[in-house]
Amino acid sequence: MNLYSTNKQSPEVSFEEAVFKGLPDDNGLYMPKAIPALSAKFFEGLEDMSFQELALDVTDTLIGDEIGRKDLEKIIYDAMNFPIELHQVEDNIFGLELFHGPTLAFKDFGARFMSRIMGHFLEKKQKEITILVATSGDTGSAVAHGFLGVPGINVVILYPSGKVSEIQEKQLTTIGQNVKALEIDGTFDDCQRMVKQAFLDKELNTVRHFTSANSINIARLIPQSFYYHYAWSMLHSDGKPVFFCTPSGNFGNLCGGLIAKKMGLPIDHFVAATNANHIVPDYLLTEKFQPKPSVKTISNAMDVGNPSNFPRVQALYGGSYDKINRDISGAWYTDAQTSQAMKEVFEKEEYLLCPHSAIGYLGAKDYLKNHAGKTGVFLATAHPAKFYDVVDKVLGGKVEIPEVLKETMAKPKNSVKMEASLDALKSFLMN
Ligand SMILES: *Cc1c(COP(=O)(O)O)cnc(C)c1O
Repeated sequence: MNLYSTNKQSPEVSFEEAVFKGLPDDNGLYMPKAIPALSAKFFEGLEDMSFQELALDVTDTLIGDEIGRKDLEKIIYDAMNFPIELHQVEDNIFGLELFHGPTLAFKDFGARFMSRIMGHFLEKKQKEITILVATSGDTGSAVAHGFLGVPGINVVILYPSGKVSEIQEKQLTTIGQNVKALEIDGTFDDCQRMVKQAFLDKELNTVRHFTSANSINIARLIPQSFYYHYAWSMLHSDGKPVFFCTPSGNFGNLCGGLIAKKMGLPIDHFVAATNANHIVPDYLLTEKFQPKPSVKTISNAMDVGNPSNFPRVQALYGGSYDKINRDISGAWYTDAQTSQAMKEVFEKEEYLLCPHSAIGYLGAKDYLKNHAGKTGVFLATAHPAKFYDVVDKVLGGKVEIPEVLKETMAKPKNSVKMEASLDALKSFLMN
């Protein structure tokens, strides 16, 4: 698989180079040069395939001969070793539960897949690398768990002090071994900027081999297309068009769906739903893309003011606003609406939603109002207990905490406090 930079000022690279480089030098994003269609045979057999089987076919088709099928099979079965569940919430609306992995959020898919892809390539070389990742919540712990104990890999996580939930913070700061957590006095956007600057810093790059692991790494996007195939295969048989609603922050999950569609999956439509950080819904209405400082919400893993995968969305449509607008609608919700949805769904359906999943639910429900006769799937991106503080407050003590979380909460926090500057990050990394 060859990849190009969305800024078109950097040379094309192989999959291996793109995975380890993370970002091209021109500050664009890597995108596959060709996104091949899956065969008719694949779609005919899809209903009878397991999640791992379809994941293997999708990956093999996309990546080509850079990794042999036998090795890919090992990577997929090792990475995707937890269940996915489709839960019917009400008529015509399904939640695709992507939170049954080790850190209880969908980011386990990307992180576990990417770490094993890197492990596969590193096995051949004797090289030490540093994974540098900015997180607004879930990415960090999923990445760190994905890489925990992998020889030759150091993980450094940057997170905004006071802007992640207590549980998230514990998950980021109690891992230990090859994983360090930096508590940045700033916003998620500051963390993301520091990571980007570190990648481009010449001096730092003489002492460290960096690679990114957040949603900008192409290896994280690939597995995020698998579950669209899976949900569609389970729901399409009654002939109703299937649309997806993705609760979005950096828009990696949406990109995964767009890639699935590009490979031939007949997804009817996408709803990109956000919280008060509604940069992309605004773009879909006005054609103007205007990043803003992020604002804090109860769905904090989606508090992103400059969605980093947006150039990929544009690239997938050749930059055409009209084509983007045909396939994707926007929607956004306030904290009050989000809480209300969590309450209503719990009271009517006895189903707990995390605040992010609740935004996905609202986006699907609203779209359905004007598009009857379709089946809506929203991505349920995190386990409600992962956002215990919020969910428990809204629902008044209804959340049971899974055992793995209790253990994490009992461990002492271990972070390095740091001001939001490249200099501070540099001096830490140079030592
Ligand atoms: C990261 C995250 C999102 C947003 O996903 P993107 O791919 O960045 O758009 C939504 N919900 C949860 C729980 C997340 O952790």
